[in-house]
Amino acid sequence: MSASDPVELTGQLAIVTGSSRGIGRAIALELGRAGAKVVVNYLRNQEAAELLLAELPPGSLAVQADVSTQEGVDRLMAAAEAAGGASLLVNNAGVTRDGLMLRMSDEDWNEVIDTNLTSVFRMCRAAAQPMMQRRKGAIVNLTSISGIAGNPGQCNYSAAKAGIIAFSRSMAKELGRRNIRVNCVAPGFIDTDMTRALPGELVEGVQKMIPLRRLGKSEEVAPIVRFLLGPGAAYITAQTFVVDGGLS
Ligand code: NAP
Repeated sequence: MSASDPVELTGQLAIVTGSSRGIGRAIALELGRAGAKVVVNYLRNQEAAELLLAELPPGSLAVQADVSTQEGVDRLMAAAEAAGGASLLVNNAGVTRDGLMLRMSDEDWNEVIDTNLTSVFRMCRAAAQPMMQRRKGAIVNLTSISGIAGNPGQCNYSAAKAGIIAFSRSMAKELGRRNIRVNCVAPGFIDTDMTRALPGELVEGVQKMIPLRRLGKSEEVAPIVRFLLGPGAAYITAQTFVVDGGLS
């Protein structure tokens, strides 16, 4: 059960990148329960995105767009502007292409940086303009504990996620005087398709190191994102919040 106040975000439009599955889907549902209309973004999973729309407030929409490209970002932003303009943005879309650094291809490096980091820069650059005009906006960027502590086999992903933290802090300092807040949420191991792709013995080993002795659920990441976008976080910006069952 979510403790979200059903009027907290009423009348606001929120873009959630990569919200057809996993953590992004849970965030879209949480924001919808708090009254926000949601722009559901996906790469391939049209059916899942459209099913999700049925559970969101009227005025929500689903937009196919590859946020790793400028063209995809332009399409997503144009759809949000046509729907009235977004005052809330969650950059959640992400991929992993794990492998040891010595053997990592340029392709795996670039895909992870483009999808996880460059997309955040481009989305924020595009979304901040209309937010500045309205003198109101809140952004949450999904990073990872890998971006704080590093993780073997994830040099590309860790670099992208660390980049998101530094980028967000810097942007928060640029845009604070325009009443735009920017924060990060750093999950640990959350049970989604991303972690289901990992070898079982690796996940079992990690689980033993987590003080709460289990992986997190997407629904356990979403509430802090909703809080950071809402009025209760009016004086919180340039911060990173870890949701990892105590792992780090
Ligand atoms: P997931 O289950 O793999 O879902 C990824 C989502 O991103 C899907 O909705 C996918 O759309 C979308 N997506 C991927 N590439 C995209 C692109 N180029 N353009 C637009 N959408 C794209 O991932 P998750 O586990 O929920 O992770 C969500 C975020 O949390 C990511 O940033 C991830 O790095 C971060 N995170 C996750 C964990 C974890 O343990 N799961 C831990 C720390 C941080 P389609 O469905 O259309 O493919």
